[in-house]
Amino acid sequence: KIIQYAKKLEHLATIDTLTQLQNRRGMMNHLRKLADSYSSTNYPFSLVISDIDLFKKVNDTYGHDTGDYVLANLAVILKDFMRDKGRVARWGGEEFLFVFEGKNGDYVFEELNKLKFLIEKSIFTYKDYSFSITMTFGLEEFDSNTGIEKTIEKADEKLYQGKEHGRNCVVY
Ligand code: GH3
Ligand code: MG
Ligand code: MG
Repeated sequence: KIIQYAKKLEHLATIDTLTQLQNRRGMMNHLRKLADSYSSTNYPFSLVISDIDLFKKVNDTYGHDTGDYVLANLAVILKDFMRDKGRVARWGGEEFLFVFEGKNGDYVFEELNKLKFLIEKSIFTYKDYSFSITMTFGLEEFDSNTGIEKTIEKADEKLYQGKEHGRNCVVY
């Protein structure tokens, strides 16, 4: 019973309720493990921070419950896309962090452009509303000299650049 209870607590602490994705804490645990084993394995991985474009407008136009619906359904698309590539977590409100494992940045850049296209093509239908969204992505390959925190910071800076340059793009 204690083991079951501990597992339940672990789940509650690391999974986001709305999207059922890993939360920031769950993803950080995983990233630390990848970084720790990097020195012996040299197993490459890349971090991506992504944010929904003009999401406030979705809430303002269609209501907060529609925004929640988008987040939950977008999460399904993202998780499915990442199934054979790595993981995705809900990093904050409408921000997601992806880790692509075993591939270099050039490969991930190509994959992200496919995902970007997949998202902009997706139609979200809720109540009487039908609309689409876009996302902006910042991509940074991990290297052990830089470390996890700094790699995340760099990915975040690139996301910001993408927002400055008109959104709906991948910055590498
Ligand atoms: P940008 O392209 O610059 O990212 O524009 P934006 O409108 O997405 O950015 P901003 O940071 O102004 O707005 C983010 C919005 O995301 C505001 C906030 O209410 C919404 N949001 C964050 N978390 C949730 C959530 O759990 N549910 C809903 N419905 N909205 C959320
Ligand atoms: Mg946004
Ligand atoms: Mg945001």
